[in-house]
Amino acid sequence: MSRDLSAPEQRRLLLDSVRDYLEQLAEEGLEGLPATAPTRAAAPKAAVPAASVPAHDGVSSRDAAAGAASPPRPASAPIEMLSRYPGLEKTATLEELRAFIGDCQRCKLAPLRTHLVFGVGNPEADLMFVGEAPGADEDARGEPFVGRAGQLLTDIIERGMGLRRADVYICNVIKCRPPDNRNPEADEVAACEPFLMRQIDLVQPRAIVALGTFAVQALLKVKTPISRLRGNWHEVRGVKLMPTFHPAYLLRSPGEKRWVWQDIQEVMKLLGIETPARGGTR
Ligand code: URA
Repeated sequence: MSRDLSAPEQRRLLLDSVRDYLEQLAEEGLEGLPATAPTRAAAPKAAVPAASVPAHDGVSSRDAAAGAASPPRPASAPIEMLSRYPGLEKTATLEELRAFIGDCQRCKLAPLRTHLVFGVGNPEADLMFVGEAPGADEDARGEPFVGRAGQLLTDIIERGMGLRRADVYICNVIKCRPPDNRNPEADEVAACEPFLMRQIDLVQPRAIVALGTFAVQALLKVKTPISRLRGNWHEVRGVKLMPTFHPAYLLRSPGEKRWVWQDIQEVMKLLGIETPARGGTR
């Protein structure tokens, strides 16, 4: 049975929620509160058990425990997403999927791009990294994570995990660069995410690392701040998913790297990867 919270407890819960919200804004590169107030406060931390075991596709038990505070799941659950594009489910390889996408004109980003940034790496990788969307460097080169944030991601993979970048698979939720690096919009996500779902189905990694608020929220279909999702395993399309902070956020807040390293070590444990002796590629 629940009891009424004392005033100090209520204050602490409120502060936790505000801190989560500000962390999320900071991760998105915003330094102040948006002009309009959010319609829904984050669920208070203390109401949620610490352990997080996946409950069902894309939603951890922690989100389930948050109950009424979580937004309802959208009608188009990930599993039905492929049906948006008839024939998508028949693509049997990444090459076929890339050919299916073709010279994509399915959303308003198409005329703005230099390259559609599909994804790179081992098509049979055990580990997949999913970011948000290409930036200017990625748009120019047609490859995900090749700018400064990409260099940091490569360091995490190669020096931190002792793998080669080519051993893993790297892609984004959105395949074309949003102008001025703005956040992708809902219609752009809706147009593009069936392709990400198919990439996951075809690579069938043993684990996915979702980089940053946007990728995590797009994959899990939740609005929970990443600061509350990271560090715990979730699940999407039958694959274990570890949310962690985006490398671009780490460039701005290097003190947060320790959390990412903690998350990456969980991933290494799951995949049976030993920490390299002095960093560096195996
Ligand atoms: N940020 C992303 O999320 N993806 C990229 O490919 C590059 C930067």
